[in-house]
Amino acid sequence: MARLKKRTGETFRKLGKFLFAPRYYARNVNEFPQRVKKGLVYIVSEGPEPDTLIFKCPCGCGDTVYLNLLNDTHPYWRFDVNFFGLVSIRPSVRRTVKCKSHFHITNGRVISYNFF
Ligand SMILES: [Zn+2]
Repeated sequence: MARLKKRTGETFRKLGKFLFAPRYYARNVNEFPQRVKKGLVYIVSEGPEPDTLIFKCPCGCGDTVYLNLLNDTHPYWRFDVNFFGLVSIRPSVRRTVKCKSHFHITNGRVISYNFF
């Protein structure tokens, strides 16, 4: 019974984390931001086209993630911003350093494969 209770608690905690997890909103900028705020995906356009996405790693490790958008350099990502300004990023992001998080972001919401 205690085990069941513990598991139920865990499920609720995970659910809460999912429901109240910050959403990622788009912010268009012309240069790399000095400070990266939580809950924002900076869409950096140093030229005519966006070239980089910058945001805080959703796992909470505090790292800043930089994603290349230019399709002449691999790997590169594509993104979409919906009517509400919420960001989707494809394909998924698999960090090869530090926290090694693997996640994707759809309509501003983080779907994680290996944390939570
Ligand atoms: Zn992380």
